[in-house]
Amino acid sequence: MRLNTMQLLISLVFVVSFLADAQEENEVTVEKLEQLPPLAEEFESLSYLERINYLTEHLEQAEGPADEYRLQRELAYQHYFYYETELTAQACQLHPPKDFDIFYRHLCVSVKDAEYEEKLAELIALHEDALELGGTEYATELLSEIGWIQSSNGHIGLAFNSFERALELAKDPAVNWPVLNTVMQNTATLYIMYGDKEYMENGVELHQQVLRRTKELMEEGQIDERMAQNTISLTYFNLGVANTLHLEDYDAALEWFDKVQSDDAGLLKSTLVFSALSAVLLGKNELGANFLDQSLQTTAPDEITARYLNCYQQLIQLKLKQTDSISACNNLHPDTQLEVKLDVYKRMSELEQEELQFQGLKKFYALYLETLEPQLKQSASAVASSAELSRLKLESQLQDELLEKEQLLKEAESKRRETQTRLTYALASIFVLVIIFGLLQLRQKFRQAKRFEKLSKTDMLTGLNNRSYLEHNISKYIDSAVLSNRSEDTNKVAIYLFDIDKFKMINDTYGHEVGDQVLVEFSRRVKSVRRESDILARWGGEEFLLVAKLDDLDDYHGLAERIRTVVSEEEFDLPSGLKVKVSCSIGGTIYPYSPYGDAGVHWNKLIQLADLAMYYGKQHGRNCWTCIDEVTDPEQLETVLQQTLEDSLKQNSVKISSSIK
Ligand code: GH3
Ligand code: MG
Ligand code: MG
Repeated sequence: MRLNTMQLLISLVFVVSFLADAQEENEVTVEKLEQLPPLAEEFESLSYLERINYLTEHLEQAEGPADEYRLQRELAYQHYFYYETELTAQACQLHPPKDFDIFYRHLCVSVKDAEYEEKLAELIALHEDALELGGTEYATELLSEIGWIQSSNGHIGLAFNSFERALELAKDPAVNWPVLNTVMQNTATLYIMYGDKEYMENGVELHQQVLRRTKELMEEGQIDERMAQNTISLTYFNLGVANTLHLEDYDAALEWFDKVQSDDAGLLKSTLVFSALSAVLLGKNELGANFLDQSLQTTAPDEITARYLNCYQQLIQLKLKQTDSISACNNLHPDTQLEVKLDVYKRMSELEQEELQFQGLKKFYALYLETLEPQLKQSASAVASSAELSRLKLESQLQDELLEKEQLLKEAESKRRETQTRLTYALASIFVLVIIFGLLQLRQKFRQAKRFEKLSKTDMLTGLNNRSYLEHNISKYIDSAVLSNRSEDTNKVAIYLFDIDKFKMINDTYGHEVGDQVLVEFSRRVKSVRRESDILARWGGEEFLLVAKLDDLDDYHGLAERIRTVVSEEEFDLPSGLKVKVSCSIGGTIYPYSPYGDAGVHWNKLIQLADLAMYYGKQHGRNCWTCIDEVTDPEQLETVLQQTLEDSLKQNSVKISSSIK
């Protein structure tokens, strides 16, 4: 009997532990996702539909829950990249993201058809999780997005708070310029749109800071010139719009617009339209007509913008007496931003032509009832700044006057002439505050799609490319680098694998957080020696990979030495105040490594070679580089890969150079 109980107990323990194991096996974890082999290389070159087919087919033969999860997530991403919002939302609903998977969570929130409060709560949770995981840069971007959502829902005070916190966070050295730049641009835009006079001035100053910093970085060669020019042009445009629509300084506006130089047709068109508007408002009709003609020859970036720019063009033509219809203004896209609608209807209600003026007034009033009044009520409960107060004051003034005019508006139908003049004066004097900037909000959306695409390829902690990006792009990179240099003798690509020395000790001595700070500073340093066109990726933990096109052969060893010195030369001065000495060991390989016979060697093997060389350095004292110059007999590659570099050297099957004395 006793024995039976024991047996029963033992088998129970077995069953329980078996169940626990089984559950663990089914659980999708970061580690399991990282261990999955990459999708086939050709995936990148497939079209949208082909990618969907590929993923659907592979889902049927998924190898375990992690693989299945990864494929389902990729499906959602692909829908998103192709602007299939509804399909993305469906995919998210069917296969919700795991808690740890914050990029995918973010993507799903952004396509979700949820109430403002719910969306906001999810974004705030994401922001906090990102902070906890050490992704300061990403947490900053999230905060800036939270600010946009708050502002478009009328919570201006809260939005200002979010942006101020984002600006504060963005001072962290882990936050790179593009992100700081976006946060500054968004903050500036919002200050100008909704702020009182002081905030507006701060907004203009922020735009000027963006300009100064971008120019500096461009001159120092730290950011790509094209990217810098785009930022500069967008900022000139922002300053122009701020002057046209908010500060009403049309001369200044024209000066800013004049500096915009962009190959982005959408930005160009908007610039031309607003230049024309500023010119005719200054009475410079000839100049205005000129801008207008040019603007008619460019295309708008999307349907919503196209329709409201059309309306502005007609308003300008009307002033120039080239037309007497403003049909386009009665035909704005329903999703046009509130600020744009308001500005357009305000301009219509100020027109000389009575019939048009009346149309404007009616639309203006309808918009007030449908949108502004509820928003006003909402924001009354969230007053948080002096700017918000001044906005509320103006809005409640508007409310009083509009209610008063409601009656008049009805009578206006019969006594139009008399009433209109009074109404126009009332309305025109009220709206100094709520104005355009929808354009930028749209750009924001577009940029977000691009950003998700980038994020899925980015390592969150260091901001470098992640392993999956590298795996997808390395063969394309190698092929094009080698081919592009065919005619010269420098058609070579170097691959370096490097690993921080005794990193475990740093973690054990100072804690994981300091370890993370070391990884961030390490990446920053290595980034400063590679060229923008090289691929630098976090390969895993504290291992990194650099793939670089070589201009000449000396550079193969030179670059390895530069990586070694930039890391070890000066102590790491960490945000926590600690100073830590850090070094790394570098293994390099070159492709093609001999002029004969190595065509078609898979990049995988090249990385294995670099790994052997790095390991050799670890065995010989660390803080050094070892570069494999040649595998003497390519036929022997497999043997070389299976033994230590030491053995291969003894057999003369490889030649190396090294910094080891
Ligand atoms: P070696 O010179 O031989 O490379 O010694 P090591 O101590 O660096 O050895 P190893 O490569 O085995 O140790 C890597 C350690 O890096 C183990 C792991 O806990 C830590 N690590 C991996 N990823 C991260 C991370 O994201 N943050 C922090 N703080 N530590 C990490
Ligand atoms: Mg290490
Ligand atoms: Mg390691």
